[in-house]
Amino acid sequence: MPHENLKAQGLLRLLTQGLLAHAEQKTVCELGDRSQYIGMSDIGKGMECMRAAVASKLGLSATPAASAVAGLDPDALARTLSRQIILQRGHWQEHGIEKALTATGVKLLPQLEICIEHSGVPIKAHLDFTLVWGGRRPAVRILELKSNERIPDSLYASYEAQLYGQMGLLYACWGEPCFSVPETEMELVTFPQAVQAMFGVTLPDSPNTVDIEAWVLSISLSEVRPFGPYLADEMMLATCLQTAVAIWRAAEDIRAGNLELNDLYYCRGFHPLCDWCDVNADCPKFRDISIPADSACGLELEELAILKERKTALEGRIAEAEERIKQTYRLIGGQDWISTEDHRFRIATVAGRRTLDRSQVVDTLTSLIGDELKVEAALEQCEKAGRSHERLYVSKINKPLKSAA
Ligand code: SF4
Repeated sequence: MPHENLKAQGLLRLLTQGLLAHAEQKTVCELGDRSQYIGMSDIGKGMECMRAAVASKLGLSATPAASAVAGLDPDALARTLSRQIILQRGHWQEHGIEKALTATGVKLLPQLEICIEHSGVPIKAHLDFTLVWGGRRPAVRILELKSNERIPDSLYASYEAQLYGQMGLLYACWGEPCFSVPETEMELVTFPQAVQAMFGVTLPDSPNTVDIEAWVLSISLSEVRPFGPYLADEMMLATCLQTAVAIWRAAEDIRAGNLELNDLYYCRGFHPLCDWCDVNADCPKFRDISIPADSACGLELEELAILKERKTALEGRIAEAEERIKQTYRLIGGQDWISTEDHRFRIATVAGRRTLDRSQVVDTLTSLIGDELKVEAALEQCEKAGRSHERLYVSKINKPLKSAA
């Protein structure tokens, strides 16, 4: 390897080691020993895939320790670095958003912890941001930040479960000594006590007269979209708590040797969680026919996976370039074509796609006919399902990483 490449590799190795070390320290400082309790993200994961949630509770991970980075081969190093950048950029955004919100003067508690025990299972919720307003119309807003490559059209079920768990616990534990604020002396106090001590704001003893909502802020590199509001819901909290107990008991049974990880329920069909799952290498979902990597079919499949990765990267670069050119076009007040030697460019306004808002159609027809069931039945009769089609899924296997030695 040329000298410059070796130096570049050394730099990437240093960065990877730093990212992993930072992640390890941050987890210990902010979340403590995650094997000792069930968190809201475990519950969210467990609602989608019990096998993945229990595996992470058992500490099964495909991520190397910071101390193992020196031994990674270049491919493993590149994969680890790319994964850490994606996983950690949410924390960087969180830091910036906290500064921005604080600059508005709003009263903000970062990383508020709610700690309870339910059916003998320790459960903790860590709320990214809790915003508080006192006075005659007291209000609380929980904000959960999610870093996404692209803003989703609708929220993932695991995110919603997290929010319902957080909201439900805030509401149910309001007057109980379950709240702690990191890096302060606020430990195991009631929510009104924490807010009084932090901001001098008096909140009612009961949450019933407080306007409380939870929101998810989905953030990509250039967009932010709020999803919400989510309100406290007893049924959803009960489901979250049941899931927490199920994860905890399953982890105990596996540790005691009474159950195998592969006996647990796992999500069926295509699921985005699988690409990021630390235990996807031996998941029964992918009970597969193994093909030698150097066979013609194996090589073609690998090539397809590489081409798809390149396509995704290219689409991202095209979207960025288009956005940049559109901005420049607007800044120079462009109205006509801009020409280069071989191409012409122009921004045109294209009419939006017209679609029917189904629930509005139901409301309007029901108000005309006066019978919602008839309206629903009529609409169902008029619905057409598209022809089913084949889709080829390509999913990454998160194998234990190879060392350079
Ligand atoms: S690979 Fe997918 S189905 Fe299997 S445990 Fe992981 S998330 Fe669940």
